[in-house]
Formats: sequence, structure tokens, C-alpha cells
Amino acid sequence: MTLLSEFHSLRDLSQALSDKRISAVELATDTLQAVHAYPDSHVFLHVDDALTLEQARTADATRAAGQAGPLTGIPIAHKDLFVTQGWRTTASSKMLEHYVSPFDATVVGQLRAAGTVSLGKLSCDEFAMGSGNENSAFGAVHNPWNPEHVPGGSSGGSAAAVAAGLVVGATGTDTGGSVRQPAALCGVSGIKPTYGTVSRYGMIAYASSLDQAGVLARNACDLVPLLDVMSGFDERDSTSLESCDGVANAPGRVQSDYAAAQVRFEAAAAQPLKGLRIGVPREFFNEGLSATVGDAIEAALKVFESLGATRVEISLPRTRLAIPAYYVIAPAEASSNLSRYDGVRYGHRAAHYGDLIDMTSRSRTEGFGDEVRRRILVGTYVLSHGYYDAYYLQAQRVRRMIVDDFQHAFANDCDVIMGPVTPDVARRIGDNRQDPIADWLADIYTLGVSLAGLPGMSIPCGFGGGTTPLPIGLQLVGRYFSEGHLLALADRYQQVTDWHQRIPGHA
Ligand code: GLN
Repeated sequence: MTLLSEFHSLRDLSQALSDKRISAVELATDTLQAVHAYPDSHVFLHVDDALTLEQARTADATRAAGQAGPLTGIPIAHKDLFVTQGWRTTASSKMLEHYVSPFDATVVGQLRAAGTVSLGKLSCDEFAMGSGNENSAFGAVHNPWNPEHVPGGSSGGSAAAVAAGLVVGATGTDTGGSVRQPAALCGVSGIKPTYGTVSRYGMIAYASSLDQAGVLARNACDLVPLLDVMSGFDERDSTSLESCDGVANAPGRVQSDYAAAQVRFEAAAAQPLKGLRIGVPREFFNEGLSATVGDAIEAALKVFESLGATRVEISLPRTRLAIPAYYVIAPAEASSNLSRYDGVRYGHRAAHYGDLIDMTSRSRTEGFGDEVRRRILVGTYVLSHGYYDAYYLQAQRVRRMIVDDFQHAFANDCDVIMGPVTPDVARRIGDNRQDPIADWLADIYTLGVSLAGLPGMSIPCGFGGGTTPLPIGLQLVGRYFSEGHLLALADRYQQVTDWHQRIPGHA
């Protein structure tokens, strides 16, 4: 029994800290012990007790000085794609095995300034490329619900750490589904906000036009203060949004939109979601969707209907095309972003080489894993002379059409879109080793949202998987900048269901 497991929500824990029933140092000490004792040694890639305890002491001092906020002393951890001063940052790659950043990513700095205590760095797929957290140079992460299964990816370490009760929240990144998909497969809640609302500064680049930071926690309510402090314009990120439709992108926005939605729901009393139109894309319920997941989604939609919402069938006709479009655009951008790892400036350098070209080529071959090399090859190919128009440009046109499909649905048919996150529950570790494309295909429900830059989240809505239960996630997708509203909707669902309260070993 850990100290953290005695608290059901971030709010309760925060209250215990402010009532002085527990100190940040006590909490951090106990949590570090749990991290060291946790059987899956691959979840955390870097832990440094001294650094964590120093942050905890600062949190206690802030509280003693009467300056504490809701996140002061709260234990979290960061996906190893965010650079951190002190802890190593590897992106789960041999290429960056010994890299220590001289600065903190904006997101890391914001969460630290809000008083959170970092437990260290969490495993992910190498450079965030993958869907199972098996593409890590340092070992696969196991799903806390059943260690023979993947936790999802690429933010698999983040989802596993939250599900295992090792941290209250964890940062993640989502380029094509990497917050929502592991959240779904590990039975936790996760949100990827609107592209541009959270800074990408210090977040190791995979595909810059898609990469967006997000966060995972047990429930929607806990996500609110975390996402709130992470959000905001950052002049160091050229794609950071200053505002959207006249609303400033500033810390406090998510929290206040969430609170406003709560007030509206309260006012509607017995039918809190009356007037809400939920769009259910018919293309999401295709032959690829497993019956277990389909049934769980149906049941979740009924819960929303019982709260007063109406369900409308919508069409996102280009759903299938999201896969080829994404798997052209993302590798193209990756091949460009990853060209900086040349063995000259930083990162792995081969021990033996001939000339300069040979040094770069050997360093990259040794430093990158199979999936990363595959993406670089695909990316270089689709950008090469003669193929650019046929593949890259075509993919960009399809991306535009996918955006239009979502815009059309939100303009005419619905206020929020709901559906599955994944076609099935978590697969077994090693299952797709011979067939990497099988993982790409399973991204079908998340990629379109990323291509459109819309906010999306996943919340637990059931279990499948036979004797050992494996979690299922419900996806919620909203209009640009509607994070607060999505979180409030998720919170309403979680007030009347208990999927998010189940913990591995006690489903
Ligand atoms: N599975 C997708 C990919 O491998 C998404 C990854 C992500 O969102 N980082 O590209």
C-alpha cells in the first residue's frame, strides 16, 4: 500500500498536503520507494532520488510560505521526449543514451513552477514512433493490467506509470494518437489538446506539424489543473497559438472553460447534457472494430444519452485515408527532423569509421532502431525528386480534406464526436514484430484528429480481453480550443461510472 493509493483524486491529495496531514517530502520518499520496487523496471528510464527530493523540499517550503497552489507537491513524471535539466533525456533511443539537456522544456518548466515534484523520466517508443512502446532501445514496457500485453504507445511509460499508481499524472506527446491510445489501453484518462495550445519547445521533434504535448491521469478532473498550467502561448515555439477566435491561449483558460461548463451542467439538473449533440462517425464502426470494443462504446454512448445528450450519426468519409496520409506526412517530417543526429554535434558517434560520410552513416545506423530507420527511409523517399508530387503533395491534399470533414461535422451536425480509440484491447508483446504495418493500421481512429489538429481525449469505458481484463477507451473529440468542455463532459461521465476507479489486479 503506497501513500498515493490512499487518495482517489488529485484534489484529495492536494487537500491532505495543505492540511499538513502529509508533506511533499514524505510523499516523494514513499513514491520513490514504490518506483524502485515496481517489477517492470522499464517504465522509468531515469530516476534520481536526490533531484526528486530537492523538488519536494522546495514544494514544502513554498507551502510553509503560504504560496502553494493546487499542484504544489503533487508527484508526476515526464515522457522521455521532454528535455529536462538534471535527468537524462534519451527519447528511448541509443542515439541520445547519454544526453543531458542544458535546459528544461517549456512544459517541464511550467509544471515545475506550479510546484509539481518530478519522479523522473518515462519510457516511450523511440522518438515517439510506435504504438506499443516496444520500439524502445531500453526494453519494452509491460501493461500493468497484464504484463504479457503492450501498454500502447508511444507514451506507454506515461500510461503505465499512472495505471500502476506510481504518479498522479504524467506528460505525454501525441503525434498520431500517442496520448489517447496508451491511455485507452492502460485504463487511464488522457488528453491531447488543440495543436498549438501547449508549447513544443524542448519536446524532441518527430513530425512538427502534428506533434502536440498532452497529459495523462486517472480521471478527467485530475487532468484539468495539469493541462491548465501546461497551456499557453510560448514565443520560443513558432507554431504556438496566441489566441483562437479571440480567446487568448493563456494558463487559466482550460480551468475556467471547465468550470463554466460545470455550471451549465449543474443548471440543467436532471438532464445535465440536454442539447448536446454527439456525433458518432459511421466509418468508425467498420469491420475492423472488435465486438468487445464496439459494445463498450455503445454502452458508453447510452450513458451520455441518459444524461440528456442526443446521438446523431455523422460521416467522416475520409477516415480510411488518414492512415496513408499520416504515414507519408509524419515520416517525411521525421526524416527532416532527425537529420540533426549526424554524429557530429551531439548524440551517438560510431567508435570506428573512415571518412566523414562513413562516420555519419555508421553513427546513424548504430544509433537508430529499426522503426526509426524505416520511417527515415519512407520519409526520404516520399520527399525525393519525382515522388514529392505523387506522395507528399497528395498526402497534404488529403489532410486538407480530412480537416474539412471534421469542420463540416462540427458546423452542421454535432458538438462533440465520440467513438473508439483503438480497434481492440492491448495486443500481446511481440505480436506485430513481423508485421510493423499492422500497428500502423490500428491507428485508424486517432490519426484524423491529429491531422486536423483538434483536441481529443480518451477515458476508460469498459474491459475486454478474457480472463485477465484489459481496458477499453472512449474517444471524445471537440472543436478547436474546447479542451475545458471535453474535460467537463468526461467528468460528467465519470461521475456516473466507475471504470476510471478500477485498478490493475482489482478490476
Ligand atoms: N502510432 C503513431 C506513429 O507511430 C503515432 C505515434 C505518436 O502519436 N507519437 O507514428
